[in-house]
Amino acid sequence: MDKKIIGIDLGGTTAKFAILTPEGEIQQKWSIDTNILDDGKHIIPEIIESINHRLNLYNMKAEDFIGIGMGTPGSVDSEAGTVIGAYNLNWIELQFVKKLIEEGTGIKFAIDNDANVAALGERWKGAGENDPDVVFVTLGTGVGGGIVAGGNLLHGVNGAAGEIGHITVDPNGFECTCGKRGCLETVSSATGVVRVARALAEEYAGDSKLKAMLDNGEEVTSKDIFEMAEAGDVFGLRVVDRVCFYLGLACGNLGNTLNPSSIVLGGGVSAAGEFLRSRVEKYFREFTFPQVRESTKIKLAELGNEAGVIGAASLALKFAE
Ligand SMILES: [Zn+2]
Repeated sequence: MDKKIIGIDLGGTTAKFAILTPEGEIQQKWSIDTNILDDGKHIIPEIIESINHRLNLYNMKAEDFIGIGMGTPGSVDSEAGTVIGAYNLNWIELQFVKKLIEEGTGIKFAIDNDANVAALGERWKGAGENDPDVVFVTLGTGVGGGIVAGGNLLHGVNGAAGEIGHITVDPNGFECTCGKRGCLETVSSATGVVRVARALAEEYAGDSKLKAMLDNGEEVTSKDIFEMAEAGDVFGLRVVDRVCFYLGLACGNLGNTLNPSSIVLGGGVSAAGEFLRSRVEKYFREFTFPQVRESTKIKLAELGNEAGVIGAASLALKFAE
């Protein structure tokens, strides 16, 4: 039997697991609830127990695996295999994840942060087509990202490479949770899109269902805004155009700096699909110089929420001879 790899996508509510072939085909998958009680001290023991239980169930042994890869929230030291400051896991103090999981399972272990791992997944088996130069931007509750350049995931000196959400797109813009102003995240995350709509509503006087809903204090989501815009709401189209301007500006500068074969848009906001992509591409073309404009493509993510386990598993391939 060929050796397999295991991918773990650890999140604040669930931990997703998958057993894959070294070619990235998922053979088994399962998930457990993440127990964040008691400073998150049950998380690693429960992950170990779940892996050992499943291996038993499938009649597999530690020797049948090349390794385990995991994506996690927080600041990751991928060399040391530690995590700190993962607040949605209650991991405030340093966690020795690699040491514990290797001891508990007898399988080699690699770790990186969740956005980087999702980037690896989309690059390997999704829209990135396994090209050596791919940028992934995830538009969800926040905006995250990962950069693969020359076949390598970029980490930077302090592990902060690929923090695409904090690219400044408006120096006088909204305050960000990071302490500065006008970050991409403040205008293109799910909450950011609504924030842009509220700000633009103040100066819009025309007839619009969306504008009326905002003025009436009704709850409006990013999804509502994209749907109303697609249905022809003139104010909705203005909001979407502004959001896509910011995304096109950020992607343009990523393109001008890195010239990847593709910049892949994923996360909940990207469910708007081609309606979003084509508009981001319009501004991307405006903000890139010819060599980049002609070679870097704006694409939609293809893997959905499996990008995490697939990308995490790919970390384990470094243990293959
Ligand atoms: Zn920021």
